[in-house]
Amino acid sequence: MIKVFLTLLALISISQAEQAFKYDYDQSQNRWTLANGVVSAVVELTPAGIFQLVQAGLPGKLWQAPANSVSSPLRFSVDNQTFDGSTQYSLVEQHTETTSRNGMRQVILLQAASGAIQVQVNFDLFVGQPVVRIRSVIKNISSSPVAITSADMLPLTFSEAGSPFRAFVVNQWVIASRDLDFQTTQSTLNSDGTPLTINSGAHGNQVSWVALRDSANRGIFAGWEFNGRSGATVRQSEAEAQLAFSVPIDSLHHPVPPGGSFYVPAGFIGFYQGDWDEAGYRTQRFVEAALAKPAPDLQRFPYMSWDSWGFQEQFDETILRRNAQIAADLGVELLIVDLGWAKQIGDWHADPAKFPNGLKAFADYVHALGMKFGVHLTPAEASPNSPILQVNPDWTSSESDHYFGSLSLCLAHAPVKNWVVNEIVRVIDEYSVDWILQDGENMVKTCNKTTHTHDAADSNYANSVEGIDSVVEEVLRQRPDVSWENCENGGNMMTFKMVQNYVTSITNDASGALGSRQGVFGATYPFPPRFADRYSPEVPSSTYNTQSYMFGGPWHLMNQLDQMTSDQLSFASWEIGAYKQSRGDIREGKVFHLTAAPGPGRIDAIESVYLGLNAVSIVTREGGTADTFLLKLRGLTAARVYQVHFQNDSRTLSMTGQQLLTDGVLVNLPDPQSSEIVYAARQ
Ligand SMILES: [Zn+2]
Repeated sequence: MIKVFLTLLALISISQAEQAFKYDYDQSQNRWTLANGVVSAVVELTPAGIFQLVQAGLPGKLWQAPANSVSSPLRFSVDNQTFDGSTQYSLVEQHTETTSRNGMRQVILLQAASGAIQVQVNFDLFVGQPVVRIRSVIKNISSSPVAITSADMLPLTFSEAGSPFRAFVVNQWVIASRDLDFQTTQSTLNSDGTPLTINSGAHGNQVSWVALRDSANRGIFAGWEFNGRSGATVRQSEAEAQLAFSVPIDSLHHPVPPGGSFYVPAGFIGFYQGDWDEAGYRTQRFVEAALAKPAPDLQRFPYMSWDSWGFQEQFDETILRRNAQIAADLGVELLIVDLGWAKQIGDWHADPAKFPNGLKAFADYVHALGMKFGVHLTPAEASPNSPILQVNPDWTSSESDHYFGSLSLCLAHAPVKNWVVNEIVRVIDEYSVDWILQDGENMVKTCNKTTHTHDAADSNYANSVEGIDSVVEEVLRQRPDVSWENCENGGNMMTFKMVQNYVTSITNDASGALGSRQGVFGATYPFPPRFADRYSPEVPSSTYNTQSYMFGGPWHLMNQLDQMTSDQLSFASWEIGAYKQSRGDIREGKVFHLTAAPGPGRIDAIESVYLGLNAVSIVTREGGTADTFLLKLRGLTAARVYQVHFQNDSRTLSMTGQQLLTDGVLVNLPDPQSSEIVYAARQ
C-alpha cells in the first residue's frame, strides 16, 4: 500500500514538474525567460555582448536590474584579468535539462571576447520554490595553465532607490576567542552604500545567509553553498539607486590546467512576502526540497540519541554496555561513542584496553538492542604521536587548531585526503558504523605549504571544496548508507553546502538548557529544524531539562544513565515519548519564533505548525516572577476549531484558530525553571 502511494506521489510530482516550468528562449534577442509558476527570472545577452539578469521575483514584486549599470551573475578574475558586467561575451550554446529533485536547468555557455575563457552559467528553478539558484563554471580553453584569482558566488545588483531595507543575519556558534551562539541581528541598511558584511564559512562569524525586506515586507533572501570563508556584503546606495549583493571567495588562487574547469560554488536568491519567519520558512522548504541530504529515516528522524561524553574519555565496554541497555529501554534509537574510543586522535583503531572484545562486538550489541551505532571522528586532526604523523610529519596544515592536543591535517593535500577517506571507510566497515559524528576545530584549515599538492595561495578553496567537502563526499559515495553529523566543537560551518553532505548539524556543544534554546532559536531561521541538533548534559529529570532540548534535530542525551534513579528514568522515558510524537511535525512545519530569543529572567516560546493542522509550541520559563504565560499561536486557520492539550497540564480545551491567534491560551509555568509543551490539533 505504501509502495503504491509513493509511486502515485512520484507520478504526480513528475507531471507537476512538467507543467510547472515555462522556459522560453527568444533567439532573436538572446533573451531567456524562466518560470516555475511561483518565481520568474529573465536573463539576456545584449547585442553588445553584455550578459545580465534583467529581473527576477514574484508576480507582485519583480526585482529589476538597475537602469544605470549591469546586473551580471558573472564576476571573477583569471590571472587578475577581471570578467564582470563590462565583459563582452558571445553565445556558444544553450539548452535546458531536468535536474534531480524536481528541478529545471537553463544552461548558457558563453565565450569571452578576450581571453581564452568560456563560462557555463546554470539557472535552476524547482517545483513550488520561490528561489533562483545560480552556478557558473569557468573553463580554461587555452593551452596554458591559468589561475582563478577571484570569484563571486552572487554578484547581483537590483534597482532600489528609496526603500529603506531591513536586514537579518544569524551568527554561528563560535567559542574560540569569540563568544557567539546563533544570535540574530536586525539592522537597517545604510543608504549611503556602507556595506553590511557577513563573514561566513568554517570558523566564520555568521551563517551563509541574509534576508532583506522593505517597508511593505517585500523580501529577498540570499544563501551560498560554500564551506570556506567568504566576506559577503549587501549594500544599498541611494545615490546609485542600487541594492548590491557580493559573495566573494576569500583569498582565492586556484590553478586550472588547459582544458580544465573551475566550479564557482552555487548561490541562490529567493523571494517572499512577510516577516523573518516567512523568509526562514521559504529558505527551509527550498533547502529540504532542492539541496539537503535527505533525512535517513522519515519515520524515526530526527533520532533520539545517547552520546558517551557524560563519561568524557573515562569509559570502557562494560560501562557502555550498561548504559546502552538503559538507553534502549528509554527508547534511544542511536548510540554514539564520543571521543576516547580510539587509541588516539588520528589513530583510528579501537583502544584494546577499553574494548577487550573489540569495538565491533560492542557495535553488534548496540545493533542487537535495536539502535544505530555512531562514532566520533575528527577527519582533520591527528595527535603528534599518532603513527601517521610520525611517518608523515609534513601532513599537517601550516596552522594548527590544537584540538585536544592534536595537530591539524591539511585535507587539501592529496595523500592526506586519500588516507583520511580510506581510514573512515575502514572504520565504518570494521566497526559496523551507521553514523559519524564529525568533530574537530575549524574544518577548513589554513595551509600555505609549498610542499603540498594544492597551491600554496589557495588554502581557503582547496581546504573546503577539495578538502573536507571532498572527503565527506567520497566516503558518502563509497558508503552511502552512513549518515554524517556536522560538528566542529559546535555548529560553526553553518552553510548551504554543509546541508548537502550532512543529515544534521549540532548548534551549540553541550552548553546547557538555555544555550540549547538560544542556538535553536537562531539556527531555525535559515535552516530546517532537523539541522539544529542538541546535546543535553543535564540529567533529564525535569521538564526544563528535557523540553529545552526537544525542538529541532536529533536530541542527544549525554548524561550517565546508570546513575539515574528509577523515578528519573520513568520521567525521561515519558518525555522521550513526547519528543517522538512531535518530531515529525516539527521537522516538516513552519517555525514561528513567538518571543524574543531565550535569555535569563524571562519566558521564551517557539512553535512549529505543520500545514496549519498541527501546532507544537514549547514554552520555557527561564526565570522571572511570572508563573503563567499567555501564548498566542501563529500559523493556524482562524475559522477552524482546534483541540488544545498540554504535555504537563491535564486541561483539554476546544478553541477556534482565531482565539488561539488573538486571545491566546494561558500556559502554567509554576517553577522558576519550568517548561510546557502546547499542542493544537485541527478538528
Ligand atoms: Zn596544505
